[in-house]
Amino acid sequence: MKYVVITFLVLVTTTFTIAQNQSADMSRITLVIHGGAGTITRKSMTPEKEKAYKDKLNEALQVGYAVLKKGGSSLDAVEATIRIMEDSPLFNAGKGAVFTNAGKNELDASIMDGKTLKAGAIAGVTTIKNPISTARMVMEKSEHVLMTGKGAEQFAKEKGAEIVDPSYFYTEQRYQQLQKIKQEEKTQLDHSEDKGSLDEEQSIFEGKKFGTVGAVALDQFGNLAAATSTGGMTNKRYGRVGDSPIIGAGTYADNQTCAVSATGHGEYFIRAVVAYDVAALMAYKGLSVKEAADEVVMKKLVKMGGEGGIIALDKNGNIAMPFNSEGMYRGYIKADGTSEVLIYK
Ligand code: ASP
Repeated sequence: MKYVVITFLVLVTTTFTIAQNQSADMSRITLVIHGGAGTITRKSMTPEKEKAYKDKLNEALQVGYAVLKKGGSSLDAVEATIRIMEDSPLFNAGKGAVFTNAGKNELDASIMDGKTLKAGAIAGVTTIKNPISTARMVMEKSEHVLMTGKGAEQFAKEKGAEIVDPSYFYTEQRYQQLQKIKQEEKTQLDHSEDKGSLDEEQSIFEGKKFGTVGAVALDQFGNLAAATSTGGMTNKRYGRVGDSPIIGAGTYADNQTCAVSATGHGEYFIRAVVAYDVAALMAYKGLSVKEAADEVVMKKLVKMGGEGGIIALDKNGNIAMPFNSEGMYRGYIKADGTSEVLIYK
């Protein structure tokens, strides 16, 4: 009898908690990702390279989807997804991050919970293997939102994050990209009337300018989350930090509107407050996620000269993935498992 009563009480409590926490609905789970925007043209791709990118994007989608499918939170899903891309040398995040002017890899990342509006971010770190997981620790295990450099690394160590030697982030291809840009800069200075040659040269390397990774997800309880991780921009100087770890610029999530992760020329994305602007257009003007995302990426940013794109997801599972650059690695997976991975326009 005692056990029957206990079982009954547990059942009642669980049901009550679920009801209180919004009702579960597996049919709405959705995950959207990006692997960076920039000068990505068919011409600069080989079939092998294209396959490698698509395979990795698909793997990332499947990993995040599995989390959502077994009832995991949108936060768990975006973190797991980003870690796959951070560990791949194909993307400018974690292993494969671009080089600073001083020849280092300095990483930025952020994450936001649409249910609580809590957020965590780190910037300018050189020894944290998976910056997105430390960003989450900042959100959940500290009183702060953004930690930088040595302090962020000390915090990561204390909380048990995986620490690596800075040489872990070295990849030959990214190092050569830095050398090429530096060489071009020198040529530009020597022949300053020769305007435009840097841009042309840059387009030789796919994803050279950008290449950040991002994920937005909606879980069975209707909670949205957004996450972004990056090495920033090749040849960046003096502790430069872009939009990726800035909540409201590179990342934003609010259950009332949408979750957003951005990729592009960070200086413009910070000044345009891109991610929050999309949410604000939905909240204050009643725009749909697609209308709001297009307004910011295809109009506002274009007018300012800010190149890049975003992924956005609303509370009903509607997706927008606009970009004003040549290409953007991107993809989504829906509740029934249908998925798509795209690169070009
Ligand atoms: N937005 C990033 C930054 O400016 C770069 C990127 O998206 O690849 O740091």
